[in-house]
Amino acid sequence: MGAQGERRREYLEAIGIDVWVPRSGPAASVAPAATQTAPAAPAEEPAAAAEAAARWEALRQEVLHCTRCPLHLTRTQGVLGVGPKRTDWLVIGEAPGAEEDRRGEPFVGQAGQLLDAMLRAIGLDRTRNVYIANVLKSRPPGNRDPKPEEVAACLPYLVRQIALLQPKIILAVGRIAAQNLLGTEAPLGRLRGQVHYFGELNTPLVVTYHPAYLLRTPGDKRKAWEDLKFARNLYQQLAHGAVTDGHRT
Ligand code: SF4
Repeated sequence: MGAQGERRREYLEAIGIDVWVPRSGPAASVAPAATQTAPAAPAEEPAAAAEAAARWEALRQEVLHCTRCPLHLTRTQGVLGVGPKRTDWLVIGEAPGAEEDRRGEPFVGQAGQLLDAMLRAIGLDRTRNVYIANVLKSRPPGNRDPKPEEVAACLPYLVRQIALLQPKIILAVGRIAAQNLLGTEAPLGRLRGQVHYFGELNTPLVVTYHPAYLLRTPGDKRKAWEDLKFARNLYQQLAHGAVTDGHRT
C-alpha cells in the first residue's frame, strides 16, 4: 500500500469504517490526492475577481442581518458558509446548530470533524477544495426541523451562493437538506445512489447521510462510504465529460 493508500486507510479508520478492497470496478481505485481530485480553480481576471468579491460581501452582509423569516429573532447570527469562493465541491447541510450559531461557521464540533474525515477519505480538504453551507442560514430553536416557509425565504441565498461558486457537484448531507433541495418527501434511502440535479445550472447532486446522524447510527457509516465513492466517481466522470446514466453500477 502506497502513501496515498495508507492515508486513505487512516481516514477510513478515523470515520469508523473498516478498510476493504473491492474486487473490481472504478470504486477499487485509491482516492487520488486532493490536488488531483479537485484541481484549484483557474485564476480570475482582476476585475472579475473584484466583482465576485463584492457580490460575496454583499451576500454575507445580507445574511448576517437578514430578517426575512422569524428565525432572525432567536438566532445569534446568520451563517452564510465557509470555504474557497470558487470550488468544484459544495456540501449542503440542514441548518446551523447551537455551536455553529455561536461561532458563525457551519459544521463545527463533532459532526464537523466527522464531515472533515469523510471528505478526506475521498481526497478532499475542507479548507482547500470544498465550500460548506446549509439550506437555512439561521438556527431553528431547539434544532427543530425547518418549516417550509423558512426554507422558501432562505433558499434564494443558497441559489446566489451556487451562482457565485459554480460547483461541479453538490453533496447534500442529511434527509432535510436532500428533501428541501430536491422538493420531495422521499426517504433518504430512496434518494441515495443516484444523480439528481439542482437549480438553473443543473448542478449534479448526490445525497448521503448527515454526519450527526452517523454519530448516532455508526452502523450506517459503510453506506455513507458507498455514497462518497459514488460522488467521487461521478466527479471524476464529470471532470472527463463522461457522465453515464447517473446510477451506481
Ligand atoms: S433563516 Fe434565512 S431567511 Fe430566515 S432570517 Fe435566517 S437568513 Fe433570513
